[in-house]
This record gives sequence, structure tokens and C-alpha cells, in this order.
Amino acid sequence: MNTLFLPADAPNTVTVAAEIIRSGGLVAIPTETVYGLGANGLNEDAVRRIFEAKGRPQDNPLILHIAKAEQMEDFCEDVPRVAYDLADAFWPGPLTLVLKCKPIVPKRTTAGLDTVAIRCPDHDVTRAIIAASGVPVAAPSGNTSGRPSPTKASHMVEDMNGKIEAIVDGGSCGIGVESTILDLTVTPPRLLRPGGMPVEKLAQIVGEIAVDDAVIRPMKEGEKPRAPGMKYRHYAPKAPVTVLTGTGADTAAYIAEQVQPGDGVICFQEYAPMFPDCVVQPIGEEVDDLAHAQRVFDALRAFDGTDVPRIFAQCPPEQGLGLAVANRLKKAAGFHVIAL
Ligand code: AMP
Ligand code: MG
Repeated sequence: MNTLFLPADAPNTVTVAAEIIRSGGLVAIPTETVYGLGANGLNEDAVRRIFEAKGRPQDNPLILHIAKAEQMEDFCEDVPRVAYDLADAFWPGPLTLVLKCKPIVPKRTTAGLDTVAIRCPDHDVTRAIIAASGVPVAAPSGNTSGRPSPTKASHMVEDMNGKIEAIVDGGSCGIGVESTILDLTVTPPRLLRPGGMPVEKLAQIVGEIAVDDAVIRPMKEGEKPRAPGMKYRHYAPKAPVTVLTGTGADTAAYIAEQVQPGDGVICFQEYAPMFPDCVVQPIGEEVDDLAHAQRVFDALRAFDGTDVPRIFAQCPPEQGLGLAVANRLKKAAGFHVIAL
């Protein structure tokens, strides 16, 4: 298949992308979080193709993307007051709500669950594509299953060129980690995935939030996850990753002591000179949590173009956006974490 490359600001991009989606095709769409692999979320065959293109396990459901918060009621049942409050405060934005699902949503989209994950992305062109398509767009992250999520159009080309109808190039993603997923079908609401919307901000509206165990530790053998995506190996580069938690100075000193020439290092910018013989991917200054989010997947992916035998990563503190960045790094490491 010849994959069309559509610059987000080209005059016919919205029309072309929307027509592909309406007719059952797949389009890579930029969002503020990561690139998504989008298709008509009400069309079972189109949705099946998302799973095939990604190599995604069938029991890992997709997120429905809508152009306006009001569309929530078209696909969700018994929407609680707090969902409207959250939508008012944070949509469009990096927050996904899990709600009871209406029968119109195919089981293939929700992987057979009676709940559906839904969000309104903060990206003008992508919202225009969704609106013009006239359907909700089901979209997981656009990476091949297991690989780090795509945050640039070039990442989409790496994983999906020749497999999908089109890639919309919207440049680098503004946030760079996936949406925060909050399950509103349980009391208290439960954080299923930390992401681009800091949980501290959600708590201001929701009050108490339970944090799912799978957010902070690996799943045990035979354990049933609440968000199906939690049980799979995720975000991993080819080389094994070790994550270091502690102060920046301590973790940098530890890594400098451990590394061999040719190892890979993900570090805060100011410590990069400590690893002269390594392949270094800086993720911004230690204090710059937005830069960490924007850079983390690109950094993980970049090692796959090298022959580093192993990767050490400095981990930011787990607050604000740092909770999501730390979660992605730890998952990439298979929770191989050394706490200093
Ligand atoms: P991705 O965007 O690739 O991270 O995939 C979407 C994420 O949303 C996965 O982690 C799914 O498990 C999660 N998800 C989608 N629908 C639901 C749902 N109904 N309940 C819980 N989690 C969901
Ligand atoms: Mg994903």
C-alpha cells in the first residue's frame, strides 16, 4: 500500500483524511499527547485493521476520540455529573474518561467490555478531521505494539509506512506522553494510567482518586488488569533498560560509575557531559518536566538505530507530569528499577 503523507497545514488534508476514515481506512493523526492510529470507531472492519497494523492483542481496547465534549452522550450511558465537570475543565486535553458504553459502540472497539474510553484531543487539525469524518475516531497510539509511542511523523513512518492509507504530519507532539486514563464507573474514580493530565489537577475536581496497583508495579502472573493494556510489555527499546530513581546528582554519579563505553544513557541535560563514551539521549534540564515528557519516547526509540547493549535512565520525581514519564520509563525497563 502506498501511504499518503499529508502535512497538517496543507489545504486539502482535513478533507482527504476525513474521507479515508469515513470509507474505512486508517490514518495516523497527530494529537497533543502522541500520534494515534485512527479509524472509524463504529466500523468493525476498520477497527480490526488497527489491531492488525499494530500487531495489538485483541483484548486491549481502543480510545474513542471525539471532536466536541457533547458527543460523549452519543456513545456513553449514565454519564455522571463529574464527567461533565472534568470535560468542562480539561477537554480538549490529555484526559481519557472510562464510562458505561452504549450499544452503538462495537465490541471490537471496546474489546468486549461494557465500558468505553473516550477523549477530546487538543489538536485543531485532528479535531477538524474527526468532525469532518462524521464518526468517532478509534485510535490507540500509532506505534507497532510494544514499541515506544510515536511523537513525530517520522516515528509513524518507521512503524506504519505501507500499512495504512495516510499519515498526517503535525510535527512534534506538544506533551509527548499518552493521556491520563480515569475510570469513572467505580467509586472512588480510579487512575488506570498516569499521563499528560497531572492527577493532582484531577483531584481538585474529583476529590479522592484511587491509584490502580498496575500503575506502580508490574502485574503478577495470572492477575486480571482493570485496564487491559496494563498487562502487556510496553514502550521497550531493543536493549534492556535500567531505571535509576533518586536525586539527579546521585543517579548521574551511579550511572557514570556503572557504564561501559558504548552503553546508552537517558539523562537530564546538565549531566550529559558525565558520559563522554556513551550514546547519550538528553531529555531536558532536570527541572523541566514538560521537556522530559516531550522527549522520553523519542529518546527510547533513538537507541533502536544504534547497537547499544544496555541503557541506563535517570528517572524524574513522580509528581505532575513526572508520574507519567516515570511510569513509561519503568515499563520500558520491565520495572527494572534501582532506587538510590
Ligand atoms: P493506547 O492509546 O495505545 O495506550 O491504548 C489505549 C489505552 O486505553 C490502553 O491502555 C487500554 O487498555 C485503555 N482502555 C481503552 N478502553 C478502555 C476501557 N473501556 N477500560 C479501561 N481501559 C481502557
Ligand atoms: Mg499504546
